[in-house]
Formats: sequence, structure tokens, C-alpha cells
Amino acid sequence: MSESAPAIGIDLGTTYSCVGVWRNEAVEIIPNDQGNRTTPSMVAFTETERLLGDAAKYQAVLNPENTISDSKRMVGRRFSDAEIQRDIKLWPFRVVCREGDKPFVQVRHKGELRFFSPEEISSMVLTKMKETAEAYLGRKIRDAVVTCPAYFNDSQRQATKDAGSIAGLNVIRMINEPTAAAIAYGLDKRGREAKVVIFDYGGGTLDVSLLTIENGIFEVKSTAGDTHLGGEDLDNLLVDYFVDDFRKRFSKDLRTNRRALGRLKNAVERAKRSLSSSTQATVEIDSLMEGIDYASVITRAKFNSLCEGEFQKTMVPLERCIRDAKIDKSQVDEVVLVGGSTRIVRIQELLKNFFGGKEPNKSINPDEAVAYAKHNDPHQKTEMFSTYADGQNSVLIQVFEGERAMTKDNNLLGSFQLTGIAPLPRGIPKIEVSFDIDQNGILQVSAEDKGTGSRRQITITNEKGRLSKSEIDRMTADADRFRAEDEVVRARVEKRNQFESYVYSLRNSIRDEKLASKLDPKDKETLESAVQEAIRWLDEHQQAEPPEYDQRQRALEQRVNPIMMRAYQGSAAGGGAEPEEAAGVGGGFPGGGFRPQPQAGPRGGRAGGAGGPKIEEVD
Ligand code: AMP
Repeated sequence: MSESAPAIGIDLGTTYSCVGVWRNEAVEIIPNDQGNRTTPSMVAFTETERLLGDAAKYQAVLNPENTISDSKRMVGRRFSDAEIQRDIKLWPFRVVCREGDKPFVQVRHKGELRFFSPEEISSMVLTKMKETAEAYLGRKIRDAVVTCPAYFNDSQRQATKDAGSIAGLNVIRMINEPTAAAIAYGLDKRGREAKVVIFDYGGGTLDVSLLTIENGIFEVKSTAGDTHLGGEDLDNLLVDYFVDDFRKRFSKDLRTNRRALGRLKNAVERAKRSLSSSTQATVEIDSLMEGIDYASVITRAKFNSLCEGEFQKTMVPLERCIRDAKIDKSQVDEVVLVGGSTRIVRIQELLKNFFGGKEPNKSINPDEAVAYAKHNDPHQKTEMFSTYADGQNSVLIQVFEGERAMTKDNNLLGSFQLTGIAPLPRGIPKIEVSFDIDQNGILQVSAEDKGTGSRRQITITNEKGRLSKSEIDRMTADADRFRAEDEVVRARVEKRNQFESYVYSLRNSIRDEKLASKLDPKDKETLESAVQEAIRWLDEHQQAEPPEYDQRQRALEQRVNPIMMRAYQGSAAGGGAEPEEAAGVGGGFPGGGFRPQPQAGPRGGRAGGAGGPKIEEVD
């Protein structure tokens, strides 16, 4: 891999993440190894390996206690935080309090109890996105721009940056998600001031933001949302509906069967997605429970009626956001749709009605829009203040972060005194306060009395609740260890698949009549028993070391090849099959030795060749 590589943009989402790269004057969204353009923000731990993304999601139902999602809800928060306490009750995995007041997830991995900080879990998701980009670009990636919600406070932003460091990424910029989406639509290029509503309805959360954009400068005027309103709630309503339907038709309760419920959930999410483009969808699952093949049709109208309550709930934060920005909805110039759930036709309809028929911006895939931004967030702002008493000669500048109206509800980052102001009636002095965030996200605040030129500035470096250098180093070393383990797993799967492919291909050939007729019965018996032995060994050694599979394969080849050679020579001498025919049976045999025929996985697609485990529906 070459050294220099472009920076990538990562939309680190609560339920799904997305990675893009700016190339050839356009953003390319990068598909993962399963061909999906978004990747579940999930990490799972098993007795033998760690799984990331789709692989983690597909096994979630069978291993809920060790499948971690929602790390974004935890990063930069204290264990005692009310949100964390509320979420803990909903998560199937355990979260414990360690190292002061920090939440840590507790999992069982390779026979041991292990504890991971939210930053470490987020770093694993980022690692997956980084590797996705590296595989696509064929280069090592170092620099990344990572997005976060506009309402994230300093500690949540710093924790996200730390997650990047642990993943081996240099996070060159944190960018607000709504800002990124607005940039994706080029709204920063409009000359005059624009008021833009970003409506982000994803898998787990709804975030509504109102931005003003003028000459490329963004300002977040207000944010509102619901941290527990998303596409997954719609999935749950649909699951309820189908569980009911199943009970009525078959008098059986799917809720008593975790595996069946998990399969239903996956199928239901697919049906929901297709209802955004079709007016009806079928949920069809073979042998769902006790051998019952289940099929049921749902129309878009039925889906809308089941979910109308949820859809209406999305309008509440929207109204609040506009109210908090102290404008009327008719003043909104642009509406931008972000998040997979904004594909839902009824949601688009509600939004259009709300804004008096205005068409929202939706030409970019909404679950990709945030990763789509060309990464040039602007970053400087100036405001004018004055004195509040006659003759006042100094002011206290306090820097808060947060969106709340009252300073007491926000987080104090730092303060300083500007002295030497000329004594004038109140409201007359002009004190210019500038906020400047540098490339590393470090905030500089300066204040200048325009009358006297008196000037002071502070740099805000908020280390509160951040991981220490040694903690980051330790977690980075852990991440390297995981990477090395992933490599071993990848190599194991590849070697096992190769050997399995060979064995099953051999078995198919022995059962093929053409070859069987040429085999000496004793040889046939030898081959059969060699194949059976290999299959038994494979079943008992799913986790062997990679070289063992190679050794076994070589040993089997040494037994098989002379027999195959004899069969071929015998048939050639006897004027039997043409060489091509023999090759068809043996798969390239005349070149010396039996080779596996190229074929799909021998056992229901299990063997997938190189490149890690293939994902299948859990069944
Ligand atoms: P995001 O977090 O933005 O990737 O959004 C993920 C959510 O969007 C999940 O709940 C998905 O089920 C949902 N979603 C994705 N595509 C669609 C679609 N075509 N129609 C409805 N919901 C969708």
C-alpha cells in the first residue's frame, strides 16, 4: 500500500455508519465487504472471535449479551448521567461503573469477562470503517473527518476523537452532522443568508437542527430531537403486528423463541425498507417456528396506520426547533432529509405539508448525506457585546458550550477578564468577541475593546473526563492485538474454506457416475473413507490453526492423487473418456493432481473463499 492517502469522511452513527472519500471532484461512498454502503455500528464478542458491522448484527439475536450497539449514546458521558441510566434498562448487554464515574460494557470474550470503555467500542466501529476504506482504496488510511451531532458537548467530542486515535486514525476535524449534510447539498455556496432545517431521522434517534448559512459560515440556531425515536421503533411495531398475526393463524407465540423472533425482525426491516418504494411487501420466512413456513403480506397503507403515531411524534421536535430559533416555518429556505427513515413516503408527505408544500432536498441518499460532505467546515465567528453599567471598565467573558437558553444549563468551558475599557455610559463600548476553532478543534476566544484596543484571549483545552495518554496507549495496544487476532481469524476462515471446498468437491466427484465407473471399487472405498474422515475432522476442528488445514489438505491430496491418476490412465488406456471429459470430472486433473471444481459453498454457501466469513440470515 502506498503511503499518501486521501482523508476519509466517517459518519459515525448510532445504529449505522458510513464512509466516504473525496476523489475526482466528487464524494464516493464506499461499500463494505458485504457490498453495503452503510455498516451497522455494532461489535460482538464470542468465545472465539470479535465481530464487527454486519457480521455482528446478524448474530445479535443469538448473542445479545455480548453484542454491543449504541456506543455513541455512551461516549463522553458519566455513568450516573440520567440518559445512560435510562438506556441501561433497555440494553440487552451489561454496563457497569468503573474508573470513577465512567460507563464500561461488560462482555464475555474467549472465556473471560472483559470490560470496554465506550471509546474503545466506537474505535472498533471506526476500525471497521477505516478497513473498508483501505480495502477499497488499496492504501493505508490515516486522516479522517468524523461527524458528530450538533448537540454533542466538548467531552463527547473529545471522547469521539479519542476513539479515532485508538483506531489508529488522525481525526483532522470533527464536523457537525447537520453542517455536513448542508455542505453535501452545496447550501454553503449560496450567497445570501439561508435558513436550513436538517431533519435527521435514523435508526435510533431523531435530530432536528436549524442552521443559518451565510457566506460559507454556519451557525446552529437551535437543535431539538428525540433520542429514542427512530426506524427501530417502527420495526418493533411491525414485529408486534406479525407476532399477533402468527398467533391468530397458528396459535403459537413467536416471543417464546428468540431465534424465530430475530429472524422475523430482520425480515420485517427488509419489508419496511421496500415499502418506501413499493405499495406492498411480503414477509416470507421458511420454517419460522416448529417447521411452519410463514408468509404474510403488508401494504403501505397498513404500515402507515400502524406507525402513524410514531410519524406524528417526529413533528413535535420539528416544531420546537423552529420555535426555539424564533422564526416562522415560512422563513425556512431549505429542508434537508438525512437518515434512512426519511425515505418513508409518509414522513416525506408530513414534512412537505408542514412546510406548506415545499419540496425537501432528498436527491442524495439520506443515510449517506452526512458522509457525503466535502470536508471544509467553516469555523470562525465574531459577536459584538457591550457593558451593562455606566462607567464599567472591565467585563468578565465566560465561555459556555451548549444549546440551552439559560447559561446555568450549559457547560462552562473557561472565563477571563477584559480590563482597561474606557469609562462610558452603559451599552456604548463595543467589545468584539471572536471564537476561532483551529484545525484540531481547539477553541480560542479573544475579546477586544474597539475603543481602547485592549485585548485578551484564552485557549480552551478541556481535558475533563478525557482518557489520559497512557489509557489511550493501552487501548491502542489492545486495538492492535484485536487487529492481529482478526488477521488470524481471517486466515483461519480462508484456509478452512479452502480445505472444505476441496473435500466437498472431491466427494461430489466420487459420486459422479462417470468417474465412479472408472474407479477400482477398493480405490473408491479408500476415497470415500478419506472424505468422510476429512469431513469429520473439519466438523471437530472449526478453530484449528491455519497451517493445520494446509497440512491436512496436502496429506489428503497425497492419498487422492495417485488414485485419480490411476483412474484417468486406466480410462485413457481403455479408450474411455476424452481428456476433456475426465477433466470435467476431476477438475483439471490431467495437469497433475485433483483440484477442486469451482463451485458455490459445499454446505449451503458456507465456504466463501478468501475474505472472511460470509453473512447469512440466521436460521
Ligand atoms: P441511518 O442511521 O441513517 O443509516 O438509518 C437507519 C434506519 O433507516 C434503519 O432503521 C433502517 O431500517 C431505516 N431505513 C433504511 N432504508 C430505509 C428505507 N428505504 N425505508 C425505510 N426505512 C429505511
